[in-house]
Parts: sequence; C-alpha cells; structure tokens
Amino acid sequence: MEKQKIKHSWAEPYKIKMVELLKMTTLAQRKKAIAAAGYNTFLLKSEDVYIDLLTDSGTSAMSDRQWSGMMLGDEAYAGSANFYHLEETVRDVYGYKYVIPTHQGRGAENILSKTMIKKGDIIPGNMYFTTTRLHQELAGGQFHDVIIDEAHDAENQHPFKGNVDLNKLDVLVKKYGADKIPYICVAVTVNMAGGQPVAMQNMKDLRKYTKKHGIKIILDMTRVAENAFFIQQKEEGYAKHSIRSIVKEICSYTDGATMSAKKDALVNIGGFLALNDKDAYEEASNLVVVYEGLHTYGGLAGRDMEAMAIGIEESVSDAHMKARIGQVIYLGEQLRNFGIPITEPIGGHGIFLDAKRFLPHLDQDKFPAQALAAELYIDSGVRSMERGVVSAGRNPKTGKNYYPKLELVRLTIPRRVYTQAHMDVIAESVENVFVHRNKIKGLKMIHEPKYLRFFQARFAKL
Ligand SMILES: *Cc1c(COP(=O)(O)O)cnc(C)c1O
Repeated sequence: MEKQKIKHSWAEPYKIKMVELLKMTTLAQRKKAIAAAGYNTFLLKSEDVYIDLLTDSGTSAMSDRQWSGMMLGDEAYAGSANFYHLEETVRDVYGYKYVIPTHQGRGAENILSKTMIKKGDIIPGNMYFTTTRLHQELAGGQFHDVIIDEAHDAENQHPFKGNVDLNKLDVLVKKYGADKIPYICVAVTVNMAGGQPVAMQNMKDLRKYTKKHGIKIILDMTRVAENAFFIQQKEEGYAKHSIRSIVKEICSYTDGATMSAKKDALVNIGGFLALNDKDAYEEASNLVVVYEGLHTYGGLAGRDMEAMAIGIEESVSDAHMKARIGQVIYLGEQLRNFGIPITEPIGGHGIFLDAKRFLPHLDQDKFPAQALAAELYIDSGVRSMERGVVSAGRNPKTGKNYYPKLELVRLTIPRRVYTQAHMDVIAESVENVFVHRNKIKGLKMIHEPKYLRFFQARFAKL
C-alpha cells in the first residue's frame, strides 16, 4: 500500500459563511433524468444532481476576499487596474514575465497553438488533454505522448506517474528533428492519468535536455499547486519547502504556460497565457485581440481578473493545499478499504474508478466507464464523468476510435465546496454500485458529435 505522508487531520482552514441549498431527488426521478440525458452525465440538469463531481473546473467556492475583490472590478476597456494586479501576481507567484488573460484555459491554448505551431510540427506531451490536443491538431500539429509507461497502468504505484520519459522524447527528436518540435507541453498534474504529479527532478532533466536541442517547454499549469503538494510530500529534499516556493521552481524550468484558472486558482471563470520571451509575447498579444479581447482583459471582466489574482495567492497556501488534497485522499482511502479498484497512487483533484476492473465483463465498445457513471448517478445523485473510450475520441486521420488503456470514471472534487459527510455519502454509493456491478450491461452510442464527443454524445442502455 502506498504511503501518503499526510496527517489524518486535514480539516479545512476556513469556516462556512453562506450555503447553497440542494434539491433531494428520488430513485425514480433520477432514472428518468439520466434517460432523458442520453446516459451522459454532461447532459443532466445540475438541479437534478445532489453531489456534483463532474469536474473541479470553475466549481470552486470563492473566499470572502475574492467576493469582495469582485466589487473592486475596474471595468475599463483598456488598462484595467485588475489586469495590473493579475500581472503582478503572476510575476510574483509563478515568475513569468508576460501574461495575457484569456476567457479560460482553451483560449490560451488556441493562441499558443496558433502562434507556435506550424503545419507538420510534432508536439510531445505527457499524455493528451482533450482541448490541448485538439488545438494542436487544428493548428496543423501532431500530438505525441511521451509520458512514462507507468502512467498507463492504473495499478502501478510510481510516485510521479506524470513524468516525461526522456527516451520517448529522444526517439521523436531523432525521428523528426528538433526543428519540427517547437515545444513540449508538460502538464502538472496530469489530469487524464488521474491527477498524477511530475517530479521536480524530471522537470530539471527535461530542461537540460530541451536546452541542448533548442526545444521550448510550455507548462500546462492548470494544477501546478496540487503538483507542488506531491513534490513536498514525496520528493526527497522538498519536505521543508513551501508550496509557493515549489510552484515557482517548477515554473522556472519552463518558457511559458497555459492556465485554466478555473482549477487551481479558485475562480469560476478565467485563464491566461504566460510567456517569458518578448517576441512570442508580442505575437500572442496581437492574436488575442482576434479571439478573446484586448490583451489587458482577454475575454474577462475586470472583476474576474481581480478574483483570479486573489485566488492565485490563496491557491499556494500550504494550509489550503493540505486540506484540499487531504479531502481527496480521505475519499480514496475509504474506497480502497472497501476493495474498489481505483487509480493509484491517489491523485490531486479526484478519485478515478478503474472501470476495466470494476466491470470486467464489459469490453470497451460497451463504454464501461460511461455506464458506470450513469449507474452511480442513479444510485445516489452523485454526478461523475467518463474518462475512457468516449473522451479519447477518434483518430482524425483514420476515423478509428482511440482505445485508451485507461477506462476511468472521474470523481472530481470541487475545491472548498463539499464536507467530509458528503465524502462518506459518495463512498457508500460507489460501494453499493460495486456490490451490484454484475447487473450493469453497458451502453451503445446513438448520437456522436464531431468534436470533443464526450460532452454531447447520447447513449442507450444495451
Ligand atoms: C481544464 C483543463 C484545460 C482547459 O482549460 P479550460 O479552462 O477548461 O478551457 C487544459 N488542460 C488541463 C490539464 C485541464 O485540466
């Protein structure tokens, strides 16, 4: 068993000032609701959901300080005071020189891909992310996975399953030439692998290698503070370093970053592109005008940028991160104690049920993870999401389904939203579905959208 070096008292470093009342549903209501949603949890109405673990994206509870920051919104078209606060915060906390706000992470990915990728380029990355890969492909690039093999094995206990395999990267460099590789995209933590972290040593080794070959490193820093927590807990020499200092060190080995502030940074909307190179910044700040807005607001209101600046500060607090990931580990340990197959080690932003081992009687064409997510909703009103064959989509060249090794159901924990009692309800419900797992028959897809199909696909029970 894995040893997470965390004390059991992970209690929250805050108290509750306002609550949101939830609708409680019956089994019959839930069966009706999920059928109407085509057995896709993305198509459920949120009012029919009791505990919403669809995503940790934009679902965080903001602090009283962030809410009061919203009142300080400077809604000028150009040069808003909140932009300068955000810029100062990004420089201070992450160390990047230039920042361009965007409406969310994919806005930054679009600008980055359009300015840095030429047709025929190769973009290595430590496992794909849906929107990231799509923007790379739309810009004419081709994504190549260079994550270590351990990441594709849900049972492997490697402490840093997000690590880049430098040998795989070297194979690409030898095959295509470094001039075909404008940058490598490094995600911290790796969402699709189950919130698995990258080690600082791996970042250092990667920096050394890419420097030699003139390849840039672009960080997908969506969950960089959560990654820093794992470095602090697991990597030799970092136990006494603050989350804040570890975050800054990670960023120091990179040339720029895309950020979905809807995750780590504790806001409901927002993101940015950060760069160190002046020319790259000039080009990106020109293009952002086309897609997002002027480079001092990038599709956001002044108040959104203010809340983001404050949220970034709060996200790198040691007390915050200990409670945040402490809660995730609490849920994961309950499930593990019951013998539920989950991705291990327990990752940063959620628990990933291993649908292949949960439903061994269903092959991937019956969408086991999609079916499991639907059953969990029916059981208790807990909403999760599929991360398997549906999310992986099709190869744009051959039109064939990708069959990812990992077939997962993601129970994503929003930040500062649910209590320990909610975690107990979730665990009990997963256990109940597990006990009755042999009755689950799988699904067939009856509607398939062209892009990012997992959002809008519809299914019927087999
Ligand atoms: C959410 C996410 C993105 C995209 O960000 P959006 O704000 O949803 O557009 C990119 N990369 C990772 C790892 C993410 O989790």
